[in-house]
Amino acid sequence: MKKKLCTILTLFIVLTAAFSAYAADADIERLNKFAEAAQNQAPDAIGYPVTQDIPLHEFNIWYLSKRLDRFMINNAGDPFDPHSELVNTLDFEREVIEFFAPHYGIDKNEVWGICTFSGTDGNNLGIYFGAKYLENITGKKPIVYVSREAHYSNMRLCHLQNLEMKLIPTDSMGRMEIAEFEKVLDTTRPALVIIAMGTTFKGGIDNARQINAVLERKKPIAVYRHVDAALFGGYLPFTEHKDLLDARKNKFDSIAVSGHKFFGMNEPAGIFLTTKKVLEKQKAFNITYLNGNMPMINCSRSAITPLKFWWLTKKVGYKGYEKQAKQILENAKYLKQKLDAIGYPCWLQPCSNTVFFKRPSERVMKKWGLAPDYDKRLGGDLAHVVIMQHVSKQLIDKFVADIKKN
Ligand SMILES: *Cc1c(COP(=O)(O)O)cnc(C)c1O
Repeated sequence: MKKKLCTILTLFIVLTAAFSAYAADADIERLNKFAEAAQNQAPDAIGYPVTQDIPLHEFNIWYLSKRLDRFMINNAGDPFDPHSELVNTLDFEREVIEFFAPHYGIDKNEVWGICTFSGTDGNNLGIYFGAKYLENITGKKPIVYVSREAHYSNMRLCHLQNLEMKLIPTDSMGRMEIAEFEKVLDTTRPALVIIAMGTTFKGGIDNARQINAVLERKKPIAVYRHVDAALFGGYLPFTEHKDLLDARKNKFDSIAVSGHKFFGMNEPAGIFLTTKKVLEKQKAFNITYLNGNMPMINCSRSAITPLKFWWLTKKVGYKGYEKQAKQILENAKYLKQKLDAIGYPCWLQPCSNTVFFKRPSERVMKKWGLAPDYDKRLGGDLAHVVIMQHVSKQLIDKFVADIKKN
């Protein structure tokens, strides 16, 4: 009896071990399948504004070689006022913000900011900081003005923050209609203006100079300007168009940029920059157990993102980004020329890396993973290609040849 039990038990153990080995193999196989698909798809991805040429390989090797993958490192806290006794990368985070500050026309000594989870996260902070700033100095809730073709996150976040919002019509290139803005501007309430610097689909840039002229003429009781530059904010500071993103010249109070679009992060991330003047008008939460004020929305925040960002500022740096920015704008013009040459209806705006065109066949849409849009003013169905660092002239040629077949 004892022997029998023993045999059954042994059999059970052997079977369990065999099954778990099998399961592990199957799991790895599944992961490998995914890896293969990613390796095939990513280099040819042209439909979304994300670079697939990530310069983080050496960073990842360093990170693993130090076995930092064993630890949870957390940047809960303010990089400009660090109090945390726990391991963190808040110093690196502050340096990242200080690296970018002058490129957005903000003085190193005046800047405040953080590395965010995404462009959306940065817009959330911009809208929140703007609303609190305006409420603090006027005692009134602001009205948010944002164009219809601005990224949907702005509308979503106004909902979330329970803010009154006025959606301004756009011209056919996706830019805010300034006359329409002037018409709806309520001067008895503070104005929180969201300036879209590169709309998601058509790459339209709201005319900040004209928006400012209206604000100066009509004089609402207080004004805050947040710039949503998720994509264009990455490369424009490194081009001859850098004045567009200069806070002094365009008088904006905060800016949000994605980290995984142009800068080369391999996971969703971003930066948010504002000034100490705006920060001082926030009702910060004094959190005893964190030894300080918490002006930002999130408590726990990534400590790896600032490290990677810091690495990028050292490895790619100004010179590298300048070169990449030049290349993507050149290649965007190249795609436009190629489509023009075959008489295919297409558009490319100044300073933009986004070529949009008449929507091709379902086959082409699927094969190249293109995003659809619709605008009656431009003949109806549209699609676009976003030229990022990995989109070479050869890839563009391949795409145009395919569109020709339709
Ligand atoms: C991509 C994009 C966003 C959203 O950024 P995420 O980093 O994806 O959250 C917001 N605004 C504009 C203009 C964008 O292009």
